Amino acid sequence: FSLFSISLVIPILGLLFGTIEITENTISELSLTNLRDYFYNYINEIIKNHGTMNALAFICVLVGMGTIMKNITRYLALSCLTPVRNNVIRDIRKKLYAKVLKLPLKFIHQFKKGDLVARLTTDLTEIEWSIMGVLEFFVKDPIHIIVFLISLIYISPKLTIIALVFLPFTSFIITQISKSLKDSSLLSQNKIGELISNIEESISNLKIIKGLNAYTIITGNFNSHNEDLKNINNKVLWRKDLASPFSEMLSTLVMVIIIWIGGSIVLTSKLAPDYFIGFLVIFSQIIPPSKSLTTAFYSIQKGSASVDRIFEILEFKNEQKTLLNQNFNEQITFNNISFKYDQEFAVNNIDLIINKGEKIAIVGESGSGKSTLAELLLKFYKPLTGSISIDGSNIQHINTQPLFTLITQNIMLFNDTILRNLTIANHNASMEEIRNATKKAHINTVIEKLKNKYQTIIGPQGNDLSGGERQRLAIARALLSKAPILIFDEPTSSLDSESNNSIQETFNKLKSNKTIILITHKLTSLEGYDKILVMKEGQIVEEGQHAFLLEKNGVYKKLYEIEVMKQK
Ligand code: ADP
Ligand code: MG
Repeated sequence: FSLFSISLVIPILGLLFGTIEITENTISELSLTNLRDYFYNYINEIIKNHGTMNALAFICVLVGMGTIMKNITRYLALSCLTPVRNNVIRDIRKKLYAKVLKLPLKFIHQFKKGDLVARLTTDLTEIEWSIMGVLEFFVKDPIHIIVFLISLIYISPKLTIIALVFLPFTSFIITQISKSLKDSSLLSQNKIGELISNIEESISNLKIIKGLNAYTIITGNFNSHNEDLKNINNKVLWRKDLASPFSEMLSTLVMVIIIWIGGSIVLTSKLAPDYFIGFLVIFSQIIPPSKSLTTAFYSIQKGSASVDRIFEILEFKNEQKTLLNQNFNEQITFNNISFKYDQEFAVNNIDLIINKGEKIAIVGESGSGKSTLAELLLKFYKPLTGSISIDGSNIQHINTQPLFTLITQNIMLFNDTILRNLTIANHNASMEEIRNATKKAHINTVIEKLKNKYQTIIGPQGNDLSGGERQRLAIARALLSKAPILIFDEPTSSLDSESNNSIQETFNKLKSNKTIILITHKLTSLEGYDKILVMKEGQIVEEGQHAFLLEKNGVYKKLYEIEVMKQK
């Protein structure tokens, strides 16, 4: 349609100059080959019967109609593209999010949180532009250009060839500029990732920053990242902005050459002036799509850096073996387990048996490897040597997720009712089971005192409850879960010492048919435990019950005495 309205300039000029050519033979049948002659004869009819002004008005109406049609179809095309682009982005985001949740922890440590956030947000925006670029690059612009070129060839093959000679020259310059664009975009996206990490870290540690009055350093850190990002983005945009002036300069140059050569052809009367001007007008209309073709090319280059970043995650191979479902009936066995994060062994040569229904405590100084031991059991990491089995099957081959519930000092509570917070891991729990669990966790009286009882909404992250109450709620939730093994990793260490003691008390008295592993560095009243493991420098140095370990007069005794001193 745009070609249609633009090429009507030729008959308009023909009318004004009075050079309209009319074939003598009357044309009755309209076909593709005689389209032009038919049109001119029709115009001629109008001139004969109604005058030249009316013929001009007729052509102007055609131009108007062509333009309206062009814009209607363009709108339709764009509205078809909108769902394509948004659906693609939604699908990638969905896949990426699902993938991120399943990534091994080791991999997550490698990236920063903010960097992952950036990949899920800003990188996807880049890809969105890229998709539009691709659609224009491969569909819209080429069609546009080809149709226009064909009409140029139709008018004057010689001039068209002259115009085309400059094409390789132009594309050479464009590839030169775009070469480094992808690299700088990658830098830019990585920097955005760092920046978001930085913001995330600062916001979640705002209390600490305020407390330490550390504004200057924290701000300085942020500002330097921010400055870097600005510099990188300047480079990216400068390079990108080069594209359009270059292609405009080149096309103007070509235009001048064509006017020069074409003018000489017109002067030797091999080409009618109205056709020549038509040629120039159509040629000038090729320039915007070729310019947008280069812009699209740049968007694709920029986007492909983001594609790389996203695929780095999407293509990460989770060693997805088909895992067997298994119950826990007898025992967990650690057989010669060693593991290190980097240089030093975090746990070393661990042999251990935990029987079903036992209450185990793992104690030891901070950094002695307690959490690592539990996390190996949870398959957060893979042991370097040895194997862990549940009822004789290596945990690497079984689906351990339904077997464990982990409770740490970070509790995840939602701004919802107490009831719903309790039943996240077990939707079908009966009210009786729920009461039972809250009683064991010593939170039932607190709940019963609330106005709405179990229907009370506890505020964002459970903020309407005290730290101790939140922790008790988490314990009740763990007791309610269907998992037969509960692992508590220092669940009380973020609490004040009073609620800490009372919760530890709760633990120690906890009678449950579940197997319980409590990690703690506070050795208050561990009398009720079936087995206490004392860890030091990644190894289990003592093992036994409270009285036995005290008598042994070793590491446990020392830790215990320190604790007793503290209590006094
Ligand atoms: P505990 O729970 O007894 O305090 P951990 O199991 O957390 O001890 O840590 C054992 C050792 O492993 C420590 O030396 C600690 O610095 C190191 N460590 C723990 N987590 C990581 C990690 N994600 N990356 C590197 N080293 C770690
Ligand atoms: Mg720990």
